[in-house]
Amino acid sequence: MMTPSDKALVPFVSVDHMMKLIHHIGVEEMLKGLAAYIEADFRRWELFDKTPRVASHSEKGVIELMPTSDGEDYGFKYVNGHPGNTRDGLQTVTAFGLLADVASGYPVLLTEMTILTALRTAATSALVARLLAPKGAHVMAMIGNGAQSEFQSLAMKAIAGVDEVRLYDIDPAATRKCAANLAGQGITVVSCASAEEAMLGAQIITTCTADKQYATILTDNMIGSGVHINAIGGDCPGKTELAPAILQRAGIFVEYPEQTRIEGEIQQLAPDHPVTEIWQVLTGQAQGRTDDRQITLFDSVGFAIEDFSALRYIRDQIAGTGFFRPLDLLADPDDPRDLFGMLQRSKTQV
Ligand code: NAD
Repeated sequence: MMTPSDKALVPFVSVDHMMKLIHHIGVEEMLKGLAAYIEADFRRWELFDKTPRVASHSEKGVIELMPTSDGEDYGFKYVNGHPGNTRDGLQTVTAFGLLADVASGYPVLLTEMTILTALRTAATSALVARLLAPKGAHVMAMIGNGAQSEFQSLAMKAIAGVDEVRLYDIDPAATRKCAANLAGQGITVVSCASAEEAMLGAQIITTCTADKQYATILTDNMIGSGVHINAIGGDCPGKTELAPAILQRAGIFVEYPEQTRIEGEIQQLAPDHPVTEIWQVLTGQAQGRTDDRQITLFDSVGFAIEDFSALRYIRDQIAGTGFFRPLDLLADPDDPRDLFGMLQRSKTQV
């Protein structure tokens, strides 16, 4: 049993503590750990409360809340997506999240989730690529070399057997940044001058660009048979990356169809176009890749259960460490019904 004051102090993981924790564990170990938690939660998919995320759209971007619960814990993430932000020196995506105990409703963790989102998105991508990419896949084209790109590359290395990434971005400075960050990480890095060049010899193609429009990062003629496409950037109504003709040729795999039909590449297709849910492939209830020539497409938008898994992972990792500080977030009167009395008594202490 926690004492009342323990209960009221919520572990808070700041950006600084998150970075220290990641270095303590190691980036690739953490990606593997996150992938294991995500896989475990996907395998018990039916247990969860699920809803498409609650999105508030504006001209410049979107702010979203992503809640879910397994009946024991409850989690949510606050996340934005503002493609124009980098011009003002701000991130496209920032986030924080909270995990709570369902029995009492008390929060048990508050944490930064900007870095954690990059890690969990990459871990999910690699988990899915391990499941769907053609046998022996080891070269990845990485199109869009922004904030997510190094995490995507390292997760594919740690989890899906990728040993070479071929980088392309419309902004050469982004490619230079990504290449420099990946130097010495045990992965061959090739900087390319076009998306076509990046895709030469790649069995996995990751698109991770940010633009609030129906973009065509990949056209139909760029995609040969047998590849796995990991489409990360199209994650909002009116924001996609792939030509619809590619979708017609691909076996499409999604997290949660109800949300992906609103936000993913498949918003460009008929609402009844067949898709396969990743959790069903993981549990053997649905088939993954059918043959060597099939184009598999992970139409990733990011789902609340992945954040829930990440929150669980962080809660378990920080236990007994100094990688957090207790936050005085919850009022804690000695007599739970005497909230006003607590306020009164505090006056004498000012
Ligand atoms: P970012 O702004 O840091 O990087 C995006 C990069 O894409 C930039 O370097 C930009 O120059 C490049 N780009 C834009 N148009 C391009 C084009 N036509 N060809 C090649 N490169 C192009 O953004 P980020 O944080 O890396 O996020 C990338 C995308 O991933 C965003 O759209 C974001 O919303 C999305 N995202 C998805 C998930 C998910 O779970 N699916 C999670 C996080 C982020």
